[in-house]
Amino acid sequence: ALSYEDSQRVFDDIDRHFQLGPEFLVELTKTFLEEFRLGLSSYNHPMAMIPTFVTGVPDGTETGTFLALDLGGTNMRVCEVVLNGDKTFSLRQQKYKVSDSLKTGEATALFDYLADSVDAFLTTHAASAYATDTPGENSDVVHLGLTFSFPVEQTALGSGKILTWTKGFSAKNAIGHDVVQLLQDAFDRKHMHVKCVALVNDTVGALLSRAYTAGGCVLGAIFGTGTNGAYVEEVSKITKLGNSPAAAHGGHMVVNTEWGAFNNSRSHLPCTPFDNSVDRLSINPSYQAFEKMISGMYLGEITRNVLVALIDAAPKSLLFGGKSTTILNTHYGFDTSVMSDIEDAWEGPRKSLSGDKSAPAFSTFDASTLPSNISAKLERIRSVVVKQLGFNDSDVTLKDAAIVRWACSLVATRAALLSGVALATVLIQTGRASFADADGKFLNRPETEKITVGVDGSLIEHYPNFERTLRDSLRSLVGEDVEQRVDIGLAKDGSGVGAALCALQALKQH
Ligand code: ADP
Repeated sequence: ALSYEDSQRVFDDIDRHFQLGPEFLVELTKTFLEEFRLGLSSYNHPMAMIPTFVTGVPDGTETGTFLALDLGGTNMRVCEVVLNGDKTFSLRQQKYKVSDSLKTGEATALFDYLADSVDAFLTTHAASAYATDTPGENSDVVHLGLTFSFPVEQTALGSGKILTWTKGFSAKNAIGHDVVQLLQDAFDRKHMHVKCVALVNDTVGALLSRAYTAGGCVLGAIFGTGTNGAYVEEVSKITKLGNSPAAAHGGHMVVNTEWGAFNNSRSHLPCTPFDNSVDRLSINPSYQAFEKMISGMYLGEITRNVLVALIDAAPKSLLFGGKSTTILNTHYGFDTSVMSDIEDAWEGPRKSLSGDKSAPAFSTFDASTLPSNISAKLERIRSVVVKQLGFNDSDVTLKDAAIVRWACSLVATRAALLSGVALATVLIQTGRASFADADGKFLNRPETEKITVGVDGSLIEHYPNFERTLRDSLRSLVGEDVEQRVDIGLAKDGSGVGAALCALQALKQH
């Protein structure tokens, strides 16, 4: 039989696998900076550091009415955005489902569907006051900004080649084509008076929209189905622009990092057996390595792997008395939002940056000796587990509930700490922060100016303590002074407002 010590060792081993210490985070940030620099100097690097040709961020005074189309998340959205010029906007939107057959069929069918959706939206929702005060523009034409959240090699504000699909898309005859042209062709096939003038990534949208509502912004970041970030860089540091007109123009440009691809070789990332299994069975093995440890699409699946390993532990099961459920046995059956629910029910502090690499003493867990507040919390978790994972009430004990909560917290804490590494990298790269010196002191200049960050995505919006843990990581990397000045705010409707702001910038550049 498995002794107490042996079973505790299984929990402790898993715990140790997921722990990240402060020194490790520093090393990882250094590697991240190195990849930033490689991506800025050459094309075809996994950390793509894509120049977006967005050369300035809004300050809230912008005005106009635009259409925006957003493709790249779970839903497709069409919206009409009115920028009021006083940091406020109004927005009307409609969501449209993109079926799996459209995601994986012919690209023309997908883009025809997008055009039809815009047409339907215009017929039912849109007002008529569109920004057409630009000289020479046909006043009947409606200007649209496209938020397209897949890797694109952008060549101008209004054009870019699709590099790869991610997040379950694989439409044929799209890779290598200009996505704006594909969409415009579909509009033209239907004789619609809509002109796509700007192409933005959702991260750029988050950056621009937060800049509009906050009067400035340095970084837009997504923590949703996937993760990515875009920040304002000096053009002189984007050395791969070479002698292009954009390089000669100088100034600043927004760079879409595609940081989800950080360390695809996985030599620096702290991969556990549970991550390896997620990667191996994913539709894109050895791509998007960083994203697979951080984003909503994968956290539930990593946690599911941990739970299943504990169920299957031999010679004695360590969870649910060896029982499993259809949900737990199904690839991607355990959704990240269930982790949120479980941690919500706990409402307690989690382990963050600690040197303590051991699990709670589950092997000596005794429900009868728990303080009543703890057993009440575990009872709440127990009912979430029974309901969401499809167990019978009698299958789940309070100890099982405690173990599931611990597993969720391990996986989510690591995700938030790694997210802090990405943020710290941007702050260091842009000269806003530096690492501690050899004595552990931070020599950042004393400043008071806020460092505005716009974020979007269900994970950062809803996961309990995600931002707090991200801040723990940031603080350990760049010091408390800088961390306190970082103002993380939701970029509400970022993709729609961002696309509108980008369309406005495109019209001004013409
Ligand atoms: P998208 O990134 O596709 O635009 P979201 O930002 O809503 O959309 O992210 C969806 C992802 O977030 C899914 O992977 C889902 O599992 C996860 N998710 C949804 N709700 C929650 C929640 N309450 N807490 C944590 N994760 C969530």
